[in-house]
Amino acid sequence: MAKILDGRIVQAEIKQKLERICRNLKCSPHLAIIQVGARPESNLYIERKKKFGEELGVKVTHVQYSETITERKLISEITNFNNNPRVHGIIVQIPLPKKLMVTRILNAVTAAKDVDGLSAVNLQSAWQNQTGGFRPATARGVLTLLNYYEIPLAGREVVVIGRSALVGKPIALACLNAGATVTICHRGTRNLNTVTRRADILIVAAGSPGLITQKSVRAGQVIIDVGINVLPMGKLSAKIGQRKVVGDVVFEKVAPIVKAISPVPGGVGPLTIASLFENLFAAARLL
Ligand code: ADP
Repeated sequence: MAKILDGRIVQAEIKQKLERICRNLKCSPHLAIIQVGARPESNLYIERKKKFGEELGVKVTHVQYSETITERKLISEITNFNNNPRVHGIIVQIPLPKKLMVTRILNAVTAAKDVDGLSAVNLQSAWQNQTGGFRPATARGVLTLLNYYEIPLAGREVVVIGRSALVGKPIALACLNAGATVTICHRGTRNLNTVTRRADILIVAAGSPGLITQKSVRAGQVIIDVGINVLPMGKLSAKIGQRKVVGDVVFEKVAPIVKAISPVPGGVGPLTIASLFENLFAAARLL
């Protein structure tokens, strides 16, 4: 049976570190979350961020706009937060409605408060492998999890499934920057299982429940499941209100074969949240 890469333990340690910092402060870091519309997945992620922030004693302001908001109005709202010295970090919850130009919206967030690391300045610094700037929380979370369990990336074969701008690509780039040999797979990849079996470390961020089964893996691999799929009740694992959350990996089929695996829930998810707050503390010049 595989070693379980428990993200909750690592999250708890990061939380203690941030709490220690908070205790010695007069003014608390402040995160602004901008949401357009009310997608259920987005609501779930935002709730988790707010809860983590509240537990830390960090101020989290969540503003929710209607799907009908214009790009101009949204950018002017973001600019207000940019100019507000009491706000240290700003995130725009994506996906955004299609009629809004996502790059223009993300680039409206000033780089120094861009704790999701998705504005052009931060993307460029990741691309150039520079230190400083902010990296997307999921990528930071995956690296933190591997680092905690002393799983090195340098020289290893990493296969990432998923090439989204928010998750797959930043993870692949972070692994590349850490010295791994990286293959990125996506919907167009032929013989996916042949490629996934090549990996020392397989990172799955496809958003496709049931994608990785016993046929996709071999003994000795490390499996990181980044998928968060919110399913209606009645199928598979943990409850979130009236829904259940599962990853992209069929845990019970894969865990008996591989060396180590991160579960969903309780793997990368908790670290994504903790990493966002590490970024926030860095933005407030506390880390
Ligand atoms: P996320 O934000 O979780 O990365 P997206 O839906 O934006 O989710 O992207 C999903 C990514 O996963 C895409 O790059 C897509 O090509 C890849 N993907 C989804 N399903 C499969 C699949 N069955 N096989 C291989 N890649 C897949």
